[in-house]
Amino acid sequence: MKTHRLYYTDPYLREFDANLIETVSYEGKTALVLDRTAFYPTSGGQPYDVGFFHDVRVLDVVDAEDERVLHIVDRAPSTTALHGVLDWTRRFDHMQQHTGQHVLSAAFDRVLAARTESFHLGVESSTIDLNRELTAAEIARAEDEANRIVWEDREVAVKFVDASGAATLGLRKESKREGTLRLIDVTDFDLSACGGTHVARTGAIGIIVISATERFRGGSRVTFVCGGRALAGYRGLREVVDQSGRALSVGATELAAAIERLQAEGKDLRKQIKDFQGKLASHEADALADAAAPVGSARLVSAALPGWDANGLKTIAARIAERPGHAAVLVGGPSASPIVVARAQDVALDSGALLKALVERHGGKGGGRPELAQGGGIIAPSAEVLQSARTLIAQLLKQPLG
Ligand SMILES: [Zn+2]
Repeated sequence: MKTHRLYYTDPYLREFDANLIETVSYEGKTALVLDRTAFYPTSGGQPYDVGFFHDVRVLDVVDAEDERVLHIVDRAPSTTALHGVLDWTRRFDHMQQHTGQHVLSAAFDRVLAARTESFHLGVESSTIDLNRELTAAEIARAEDEANRIVWEDREVAVKFVDASGAATLGLRKESKREGTLRLIDVTDFDLSACGGTHVARTGAIGIIVISATERFRGGSRVTFVCGGRALAGYRGLREVVDQSGRALSVGATELAAAIERLQAEGKDLRKQIKDFQGKLASHEADALADAAAPVGSARLVSAALPGWDANGLKTIAARIAERPGHAAVLVGGPSASPIVVARAQDVALDSGALLKALVERHGGKGGGRPELAQGGGIIAPSAEVLQSARTLIAQLLKQPLG
């Protein structure tokens, strides 16, 4: 037997009495079939209601075959005379979003001749898919028109008509249903066939805000929030703007300019640091090269330079290698990561091969050309790696350490 849907005629009904007709299993869960219900089952883009029958929790509501409504519950009730109570906060939110969708879709249709292809009421926001692309200015016009209808507080009436006579009524979208049609009539603005729950007057929508637009399947997907969700969204934005403003010590309207200023300052500072690092690297390289240890006919710098990153080490090593007969093995210390090996043109040392030998022995990775090689990821202590490097270089140059 089909379930009598109380929300069809009274969407404001929050509590009701009903009789349990049967308890069935639905996808492994307990489901109740009642003679009547105010619980809305998921359909037409609107999600289900939740709530209670006494202390039995309603977890989901499903539109089943034979026009039955299945109430998925956490356990079977102990009586057949049930008193249902809806989670009204959730339901009223759905009513605001859903009625807002009717008004917004009608506004797109009337102002821009953009037709709604589908609607989805989500947990945080809702979407309507329109059949054409829209500019930001067009979106704003439709948004203005929709809110004008909200603020005029027009009646949203529910009417039942025979499907055969509906064609002459001027529905926004043709209905394929047969038999009796349920129409939602936003006075002198929109007439749509719909089985969902709606507020009684447009004023209860509060406000309609479009939060995002994107191209979608040759048309547009418009994301929007109504009423309580718009207020929550505003609060969220206010929080973010306040925090950002406090962090930068500016008001909301100056935020963008303050961020641009910070970015420009950051860019200047990075350039300055780079210049200073270049100069410092030159001094460091010269001091190290002056104290280089002879290895055969070459002079070797092997040092740990804590605080320098890979690029700094590379700059220093390259500058040392500008001196004829010089080679350098530099590590970041205290662990030997990063590591750079470089040598002058006249030194018969393959930096890439040396680095490979070092990472094979101490872990990490790296490689490069005979003149310059670099690596990282070594966790062995700097002193150990540098000692290995000195021993290997002495062998490679076939000369004892000086
Ligand atoms: Zn509707």
